[in-house]
Amino acid sequence: MKIKKIELYQLDLPYSGGVYMLSGGREYRSFDASFVRIETDTGLEGWGESTPFGATYIAAHALGVRAGIAEIAPYLLGRDPRQMDRINDTMDEALVGHNHAKSAIDLACWDLFGKSVNLPVCELLGGSTGKRLPVISSIYAGSPEDMRARVAQHREMGYLGHSVKIGALDSEGGPALDAARIRESLADRQPGEFFLADANGGLTVEAALRMLRMLPDGLDFVLEAPCKTWRETMSLRKRCTVPIILDELVQQDEDVALMLAEDVADGIGLKISKAGGLTHGRRHRDMCLAAGATVSVQDTVGSAIAFSAIAHLGATVPERFLRCILDCRDMVTLETAAFDAPVQDGGVLVPDAPGLGITVDRGLMGAPQAVWEA
Ligand SMILES: [Mg+2]
Repeated sequence: MKIKKIELYQLDLPYSGGVYMLSGGREYRSFDASFVRIETDTGLEGWGESTPFGATYIAAHALGVRAGIAEIAPYLLGRDPRQMDRINDTMDEALVGHNHAKSAIDLACWDLFGKSVNLPVCELLGGSTGKRLPVISSIYAGSPEDMRARVAQHREMGYLGHSVKIGALDSEGGPALDAARIRESLADRQPGEFFLADANGGLTVEAALRMLRMLPDGLDFVLEAPCKTWRETMSLRKRCTVPIILDELVQQDEDVALMLAEDVADGIGLKISKAGGLTHGRRHRDMCLAAGATVSVQDTVGSAIAFSAIAHLGATVPERFLRCILDCRDMVTLETAAFDAPVQDGGVLVPDAPGLGITVDRGLMGAPQAVWEA
């Protein structure tokens, strides 16, 4: 099987909740998404998506995704898309870094691999645990009362995990506001629920320690991505007893290795495009499992195509280590593909269909922005 043609598509995905607010005054209304369709000489096609969370979240942005794909695509024509590690070697030789650009191509190749052997991608990644995958909400930083109401809405929708965004500057309310956000969001906590207080790197060590001292004892939550840098995170780690998980700081394989070797955190938010695709995502999963660290499988954001990859990787993480998966479908208003994985009974089951198990809405995609052909 050889890659015959690579097509690049673009769509803007409006945020379903109006304005998404993050620490540091960052706001998002819509997400610029890139999609790759790879066609092979057998007639099979594979799809992938990469949607950065704007240009102010991590060092990734949509124009860079598409420029990166343009750098890489010519090197992949004629290659067997099922040689996943070798495809990634070639991408790394064509372009240093830029995981977000590589992710869409990597996903499309996994989709093709699955279709070529008539198996879902989760089976190729080690096999589904067969468990329902608990989904996590993404509760943007607002007033404490409003955040409590949005947690309740997502509880009604069947979400077991809640990622509560914090990271207020002193001028916005500071550690006292963040402590109130956590208290209110956890106020109606139900058995089996799981809470992350996610600062997206927005706290100084000082602010984090002040906030933690304002919280009552016994609140059951994990602190995610408290600080922007490794040094700050390591300092905080030594000075607090709250479990910490990392997200934005962990992108490359060596970041996972450093986190585990230095015992900086207890788990990771494994965002597929941040890792560069399912091939490196699989590696990060295995490194964490070997070290006994927990994994939340997520993406920076995205539509049903990105979600299908989340679900397939999430399905391979043993229940004890899988914190949750992010259902990014509910964060955007466009449905780019049919993916038969409704949230039911507290979670999602991956469908049996081959590849990623998606049927892309070609009408919605429109015409490709670029095409590379052998
Ligand atoms: Mg996070």
